[in-house]
Amino acid sequence: MHDLIIIGAGPAGLTAALYAGRSRLDTVLIEKMAPGGRILMSETIENYPGFPGGISTVELISRMEQQVKELGVKIQSDEVLDLDCEKKTITASSGTYAARAVIIASGAHPRKLNVPGEKEYTGRGVSYCATCDAPFFKGKKVVLVGGGNAVAEEAIYLSRFASSVNIIHRRQDLRASEILQEKMQQDKKISFILSSLVTEIKGAKKVEAVKIKDLLSGKESDFACDGVFIYIGYEPETVFLKGKLQMDEAGFIISNESMATSVDGVFACGDCRKKSLYQVINACGDGAVAADSAYKFIADRSR
Ligand code: NAP
Repeated sequence: MHDLIIIGAGPAGLTAALYAGRSRLDTVLIEKMAPGGRILMSETIENYPGFPGGISTVELISRMEQQVKELGVKIQSDEVLDLDCEKKTITASSGTYAARAVIIASGAHPRKLNVPGEKEYTGRGVSYCATCDAPFFKGKKVVLVGGGNAVAEEAIYLSRFASSVNIIHRRQDLRASEILQEKMQQDKKISFILSSLVTEIKGAKKVEAVKIKDLLSGKESDFACDGVFIYIGYEPETVFLKGKLQMDEAGFIISNESMATSVDGVFACGDCRKKSLYQVINACGDGAVAADSAYKFIADRSR
């Protein structure tokens, strides 16, 4: 029986572990992959305070991990399959865990476009991670789908490798921040195909083209390319919690300002919870609050 189990070692979970460790809670942090989460899909982060010019995401995460380990918090590699919210017991691939409180920091995964060819060509030209796959597209022509901060950051990154970077977005206006839009405008390799949808990804052994529908004219045409990077938002990693605590219709966990969920002693932080801004900085803030709330919950029950 531990004091606290934290599910997920992205920035939210690592910060929760940092605060829990400093409160001397007996804490286990469970992560199915390496610590970091989806921040590692970007090469650098430019809007984390204190690092003018940005910091490599790998370095930021390894510093967070080191800080947590220095406090004696155990990072356990395992995949959580089920959580009994009332009993605070977790069934994972390698066994079961029990605690007095649980923090869910399970994050989110990239949303799929759900068009013909996407599944078939994943790993053969279709990618959700420019940082991982950009070197394969040196001197090649790539398409990116989306209009948010992620597509903008990754377009700028990919332009260091690809010969041309073409952003296809379903509306006329991007939702990426102004500073990223300015950077893209200054990059001669980046161009835009707006008010358009990718309706199919085509190829033979690898991706060779995307079919694009112009939403203004209704016309469809093929656009030759070697790679397709999809950045159309994220879905919460909460399927294992369905029906166990309150969520919105998209599966984001509903939690209050103390990060408390609808179940006593279960807290949620970071990208898996419903909120208005999904950034590393407030994922960390969420994690700190969740750990503080868990500490108070455990202390109250011990009296
Ligand atoms: P996002 O901000 O939700 O943008 C998703 C984009 O994909 C939108 O432009 C949306 O179009 C488009 N889209 C959604 N579904 C689509 C579909 N089925 N077909 C075609 N297009 C579709 O997502 P994101 O850029 O992945 O970022 C996720 C979160 O992480 C955001 O909160 C973002 O701010 C944050 N983030 C921040 C940074 C940073 O600050 N440096 C970097 C990366 C990510 P519409 O515009 O028409 O809705």
